[in-house]
Amino acid sequence: MTETTTAAAAPADLGFDPDALREKYRQERDRRTRRDGNAQYRRAAGEFGYYAKDPYTPRAERAPLTDRVEVLVVGGGFGGLLTGARLREAGFASVRMMDEAGDFGGTWYWNRYPGIHCDIESYVYMPLLEETGYVPTMRYAPGEEIRQHAVRIAEHYGLYRDAVFHTRVTELTWDEDAAEWLVRTDRGDAMRARYVVVSSGTLSQPKLPGIPGIEDFRGHTFHTSRWDYGYTGGTADGGMTGLADKRVAVVGTGATGLQAIPHVARDAAHLYVMQRTPSLVDVRDNRPTDPAWAASLKPGWQRERMENFLAILSGEEVEQDLTQDGWTSTARLQRKMITGAVDTSVDPAERERLDELADFVKMNEIRARVETIVEDPATAEALKPWYRYMCKRPGFSDLYLQSFNRDNVTLVDTADHGGITRMTETGVVVGEDEYEVDCVVFATGFETGVSGVVSGTMPVHGRGGQTLLEAWGRGPRTLHGFCSHGFPNLFHLGTMQNANSVNFVHILSEQAEHIAAVVAAARKSGARYVEPTRESEQAWCDTILDVAVDNSAFLAECTPGYYNGEGTRRATPTSYSPGPVAFHRVLARWREGGGLADVLVDPAEPVEAMEASETTEGAR
Ligand code: NAP
Repeated sequence: MTETTTAAAAPADLGFDPDALREKYRQERDRRTRRDGNAQYRRAAGEFGYYAKDPYTPRAERAPLTDRVEVLVVGGGFGGLLTGARLREAGFASVRMMDEAGDFGGTWYWNRYPGIHCDIESYVYMPLLEETGYVPTMRYAPGEEIRQHAVRIAEHYGLYRDAVFHTRVTELTWDEDAAEWLVRTDRGDAMRARYVVVSSGTLSQPKLPGIPGIEDFRGHTFHTSRWDYGYTGGTADGGMTGLADKRVAVVGTGATGLQAIPHVARDAAHLYVMQRTPSLVDVRDNRPTDPAWAASLKPGWQRERMENFLAILSGEEVEQDLTQDGWTSTARLQRKMITGAVDTSVDPAERERLDELADFVKMNEIRARVETIVEDPATAEALKPWYRYMCKRPGFSDLYLQSFNRDNVTLVDTADHGGITRMTETGVVVGEDEYEVDCVVFATGFETGVSGVVSGTMPVHGRGGQTLLEAWGRGPRTLHGFCSHGFPNLFHLGTMQNANSVNFVHILSEQAEHIAAVVAAARKSGARYVEPTRESEQAWCDTILDVAVDNSAFLAECTPGYYNGEGTRRATPTSYSPGPVAFHRVLARWREGGGLADVLVDPAEPVEAMEASETTEGAR
């Protein structure tokens, strides 16, 4: 339906009653709202630390390091890799990559569950394709291919040299006299780095539901981000023969559940899908890369395609849609929540009305799709999502709904009980009903936006011993999200006071380029260090607030999820609301328009470039 027809149509002509739908959404939200919000979850730490252990790479012993590097990059996912790559291109020889994992890949190192695929088109998601001469095999590449691409990037840019894995920073302390950071880690290291870049991810710490009795369960259990193939057998492509005689419960039906469930359904003796809120599941339409298309690509194609995708999702005018998928076709429904960008040419009240109508139309289509695929009417009804399009991350699958037509799959709707009621030694209880199982898999997601810096697990002591958390007080205080006054030569990647997009790797890519450009400029000018003034930091904090879009009314109507602080409606987006395209323009203007002079301190005392460290830990 076009905007004009939607605007002109009376409810009777629409074929649905907006008031009735609004009321249904509220009822379904209220069924799921819990007073405890985020407190319902447990960290995969302490007594539950085994849920977060690395099942993929044995930990290698090594002597503590006390050497110096020019740049330490904390985090070996795509944010860290892109930063390392851009620093190498800018001529930096002494770069140390560090990660808690046993290798590069970040999200794609940890998440290896069956069925794992990129849910953004690989040609815009997988970074540095042209630089590394790689073309993904599929439109939405499998996770293992993406993980191997992370390794490819690290090898291409020589980032294994000096890298340390299975290592977590425990403290960063600024040494004013030496103008460098002292970095302590859980491996006993006391290394030094002139610059530290923190790219530790926004969805990296697995979380568990605080289900009473979870510790009593005597069967096997693990989190999807640490898939136990030793128990299940098989690989990410399936073939989990170890499940052939097992009754399995999968808890959670978010983006991860959608991908893993069809494979468990195929391989397990019986699968119970423990659902609290159904995901919206749109068409995936994955397909192999067309070799003729790949051969026709001209230099610069990837940047052009990434920028086109980001522009469409940000509500910018473009001549054509190069990606043409489920994300770009619903851009109008997403842009308010994801980028904050809205169409200002329309009166706000009218815009709200039109947006809501377009949302109802799309969600009706999603609900109708469930009915056409799922044969049992009661199961189909329970799988229908009753909320607005961006209340939760949209899902795409051509396998998930079909799984419920199998005889060995049972959908257990836990909504009226706030999720699983309790666990026993032998199974899972929902209300009064117990489901005996051999294995429980938690597809229950991750703590959101919790970097070590913000959670306090990575204390940062800046100039004069002040900690970063003290300096930030009630919220982050940065220039453009990257750096803070009193904490020289320290950079952050992430969404905080920066940009956001469903194609988060694009955001990371721009951040990496920006940081590398600033550090390279510092080296060129011989600056002693990089640090924003208190005034420029304050100005950026003011800008973030001035341009903020108030989404609270939208979030208040949403079913609980991590977008709205699990129904507490306290999720305050701190990204730059006009959206990523506008933000990237701000950054480019800042770099070209003399912004660097604001952060490069004391260029009178030249600082020499460093050669690669002699340590070859992790060399490859
Ligand atoms: P998630 O979206 O947070 O989903 C967690 C699931 O666990 C939800 O269905 C939740 O139900 C359920 N749950 C939590 N507590 C429960 C309880 N006590 N009883 C029953 N169910 C319970 O986590 P995720 O699926 O791992 O996805 C996290 C994020 O990772 C995504 O949003 C996306 O950003 C990213 N991701 C990306 C890809 C990709 O291909 N790029 C793939 C997977 C994930 P409620 O909805 O009722 O809370």
